[in-house]
Amino acid sequence: MELAAGENRVAMTPDSAKQLQKLGYECLVETGAGKKAGFADAAYEEAGVTVVADAAALWAQSDIIAKVRIPTDAELGHMTPEKTLITFFNPGGNAEGLELAKEKGGNVIAMEMVPRISRAQKMDALSSMANIAGYRAVIEAGNNFGRFFTGQVTAAGKVPPAKVLVVGAGVAGLAAIGTSTSLGAITYAFDVRPEVAEQVESMGAEFVYLDFEEEQADGSGSGGYASVSSPEFREAQLAKFRELAPEMDIVITTALIPNREAPELWTEDMVASMKRGSVIIDLAAEKGGNCKLTVADEKIVTENGVTIVGYTDFPSRMATQSSTLYATNIRHMMADLTPEKDGKVVHNMDDDVIRGATVAYQGEITFPPPPPKTK
Ligand code: NAD
Repeated sequence: MELAAGENRVAMTPDSAKQLQKLGYECLVETGAGKKAGFADAAYEEAGVTVVADAAALWAQSDIIAKVRIPTDAELGHMTPEKTLITFFNPGGNAEGLELAKEKGGNVIAMEMVPRISRAQKMDALSSMANIAGYRAVIEAGNNFGRFFTGQVTAAGKVPPAKVLVVGAGVAGLAAIGTSTSLGAITYAFDVRPEVAEQVESMGAEFVYLDFEEEQADGSGSGGYASVSSPEFREAQLAKFRELAPEMDIVITTALIPNREAPELWTEDMVASMKRGSVIIDLAAEKGGNCKLTVADEKIVTENGVTIVGYTDFPSRMATQSSTLYATNIRHMMADLTPEKDGKVVHNMDDDVIRGATVAYQGEITFPPPPPKTK
């Protein structure tokens, strides 16, 4: 069972357990582990899974342990050189966990480290969770917004459509754009990577171009991620946002740059210029937020009546869906680790995906990995 407060997800579902059994594994689950995600013990039993009484028994009886959140010291304390742990691990910010894993001698696969190459898309848990966060951000916005998304002409009056701005059109941003346009809002999107303009437009949203001398400067960094903007570009971006702020009903911010605090893009004066009843959903809250006023894990309402949501657990708020996708990511990772489908792990460190995601291996810390050899 996940120990983090408010975490509702589970790393194995009855369906994924059936697939794991086809790989030759016997599956166990801690009693109640799937309950908050909508998977009862009985459903696991029906799928051929053994339900065990507590976490200690589960760790003791298992060779491979799949979980969602960064393991606690106590959880890592259960590791032995024979065990493999598959989980989100935050290896870049978890030196203590890496040291403990090294000391215990087991193998640790960090799901956020799955390389973003085509072959590994089915194991890309960051993308599957970001997709859910983007969708849920729009639902959350709707829940806090007092009007329709779509415009309507009714006998009781004419309703204008909501205007939604999505900042950052990566995986979460594109999911938010798709959800927003499908609900009928007039949707705008901005990203520093100009190559996403076409994708944004193909989803029925309008890409926001800047009045910047060198056209839309290319903010693309390596591996499909963004790089830090120049001060001039940032000024042009903020000027455009200042112009848009009074018009927007909903702003969803998703802008991130790898290994950095989130760029601050929605300033106090922009919030102050927004209409009463407007909503900001800051998906970058965990990394400090794109909006100056965001408070992580909280919802606040400003004096001028703007709601700012800084929840960091959107996937957990849709635990059935997120567990289903995460468990599928895990079982694909297990398929890679089990080439003979004989219930035996072959931890092939020459495989780009396995090597990339392995952060501790046979008593060594193996993070950061070398760059993948394939695309
Ligand atoms: P991310 O979460 O790191 O960032 C979210 C978005 O914020 C990105 O689109 C980024 O360009 C944007 N951003 C950064 N600074 C900004 C700023 N100042 N203003 C506006 N936007 C800003 O990114 P992500 O969603 O994890 O993925 C980014 C890209 O990686 C994807 O669009 C895709 O091209 C690529 N990707 C590839 C694979 C694969 O090949 N398997 C999988 C997932 C993603």
